[in-house]
Amino acid sequence: EAPIKLNERKIGSIRLRVETKSLYLGLGRFSVGLLMIAAISLLFGRIASRKIRRRIAEAEAALQHMALVDRVTGLCNRYAFEHELARVVALHARDGLGSALLFIDVDNFKKVNDLYGHQNGDGVLREIADRLRGSLRRGDVIARIGGDEFAVILVNTHEPRAIAHIAATLNEVAARPFMIDDVPVHVGFSIGIAIIPDDGDSAERLLNDADLAIDKATQAGKGSYEFFSPQFGAKVYQRNQIEVALRHPVSRDELEVVYQPQVDLCSGEMIGLEALVRWRRPEVGLVSPDEFISVAEESGLIVEIGRAILVRVCRDIRDLRGEGWLVPSVAVNVSARQLRMGDFRLDCERTLAEFGLQPCDIELELTESVLMDRIESQRDFLDRLLESGFRIAIDDFGTGYSSLSYLRHLKADKLKIDRSFIQTLPDDADSVAITAAIIDMAHAIGLKVLAEGVENDAQLACLQANACDYIQGYKIGKPMVIDELRGFLKPASRSAS
Ligand code: C2E
Ligand code: CA
Ligand code: CA
Repeated sequence: EAPIKLNERKIGSIRLRVETKSLYLGLGRFSVGLLMIAAISLLFGRIASRKIRRRIAEAEAALQHMALVDRVTGLCNRYAFEHELARVVALHARDGLGSALLFIDVDNFKKVNDLYGHQNGDGVLREIADRLRGSLRRGDVIARIGGDEFAVILVNTHEPRAIAHIAATLNEVAARPFMIDDVPVHVGFSIGIAIIPDDGDSAERLLNDADLAIDKATQAGKGSYEFFSPQFGAKVYQRNQIEVALRHPVSRDELEVVYQPQVDLCSGEMIGLEALVRWRRPEVGLVSPDEFISVAEESGLIVEIGRAILVRVCRDIRDLRGEGWLVPSVAVNVSARQLRMGDFRLDCERTLAEFGLQPCDIELELTESVLMDRIESQRDFLDRLLESGFRIAIDDFGTGYSSLSYLRHLKADKLKIDRSFIQTLPDDADSVAITAAIIDMAHAIGLKVLAEGVENDAQLACLQANACDYIQGYKIGKPMVIDELRGFLKPASRSAS
C-alpha cells in the first residue's frame, strides 16, 4: 500500500494488487509445455535415430549380402566362393583329406538370353540354382561365379568314382528342358573337375585347372564332364602354337580343300559337293579342322582364312569346268565370326565375279547357332543372301536349339541333319523318330533334307524309308582331293545333250 501525498499531507493511499497465481500457472503451463516438447522431441529423436541406425544396419547387411551372394540366384558369388575354396584348401592342408571342385559352364545360355530376354534368362539361372541345390548335399558349396558359370565344392568327396557319379547326375539334371512360356528350352552343362588338393594348392590354381578341364569337356560334346589332367596345359600351349602359325601368311598356303560328294537318294545323281579345309603343316602333318578352326574363330583369323578357302574353291570350280567337267554347286562352311565382320555378301560376290562364277554356284553352310545368333537382323540378312542367288544350307541341324518351330521363320534351301542322329540309325528309336520328324517338318516348309555322315546300307535304307532327299557320307565318298574328285564327276557335254 503506497500513500498519496499532496503538499506533504497524506490525502489517500493506493493499493496495488497483483494476481500472481495465474502468472505462476501460466509460467507452469509454459514450462510443462516446454518440458513436454523436449521430452517428445527427445523421444522422437531416439525413435528416429534408432530407425536410422536400423536402416544403416540393414543396408550394411544387404551390402555384405550383395558382396557375397549372387543377386539372381541367391547362391554364393565368385568372391565368396573363392574365399570358401581357400578355406577348404587350408582345411585339407591340415586334415590330409580332399574335396572336389566342379566348374560348370552352362551351354547355350547366351543364346537363351538373346532369344528370350534377360528376365527369362534369369529365370533359367534360378531354376539351375534350384536343381543344383536339389542334387547336392547340405555341406557342399554352390556358387554362381560368372554370367553362365557355376561352381561347386563337394566337401570331403575326393574319390573319383563318387565325383564322376555326381557330375553325371548334374549333367542329367541339366539336360531336362527349362520351360519359358511353355516352350521347352535346352541348355545343359559342361563340367570341369579338379581335385583339392591334388590338382592345386591355391584357389586360383584349382579354378584354372577346372577351367582347362571344361574346355576338354566342351570338346567332347555338350553335356559332359572331364577331370583335369596336367596334359591340358600342353593343350593350351598347342593352341597357342596353332594360333601363332596361323597368323603367318605362309601357313595359309598350306591350307588345302577337299571335296565330299552329296547325292540324291532316289536317282543316285551327284547334286553337290561340300568343301572341307585341311591344313598340311610341313613338320607336323595333317591338322584336322576341328583342331584349328576353333582357334581361328577365337582369334578372328577365320575371316581371312574363310576368304582364302572361298578363293581356292572358286578357282577349283573354274578350273574343273574349264576341263569340261560338270561341277554342281559347292557348299562352303561359314563361321559366325565371318558374317559379323565387314560385308560378307559383297566380299563373296566380288570373289565369285573374279572367277566368272554365279552366286548359285556356291552354297553357304550356316549352323543353327549362327542363324540363331543373328535372329534379330537375320531375316533380312538371309533374305539378301538368298536374293543375291546364294544357296543356304542349315548345317548340323539337331545339335543346337533343335527347335523345329523356329525353322518356319528361316528361309533356306537345304537342311542337314547332324551326323550324331544318323550314326545311331536305325537301332535307336529316338533317332529314328527325330530324323523322321525333322524330314516331315522340313518338307512341310519346302526345305530339302540332307543326312550327314551316312556310312552304311542300314542307315541308307532307313533314310530312304523316311523320304530323305539327299545323303552325304563315307558310304558315298570320303572327302577327296581334286585329282580324286575328277573320277566322280561327269563330263558337262554328256548331261547337256
Ligand atoms: P561339318 O561341316 O559337319 O563337316 C562334316 C564332317 O564330317 C567333316 O569332317 C567330314 O569329313 C566328316 N564326315 C563326312 N562324312 C562322314 C562319315 O560318313 N562318317 C564320319 N565319321 N565323318 C564324316 P572334317 O572335314 O574334319 O570337318 C570338321 C568340321 O570342321 C566341319 O564339320 C566344319 O564344321 C569344320 N570345317 C571344315 N572345313 C571348314 C571350312 O572351310 N570353314 C569352316 N568355317 N569350318 C570348316
Ligand atoms: Ca558343314
Ligand atoms: Ca555338318
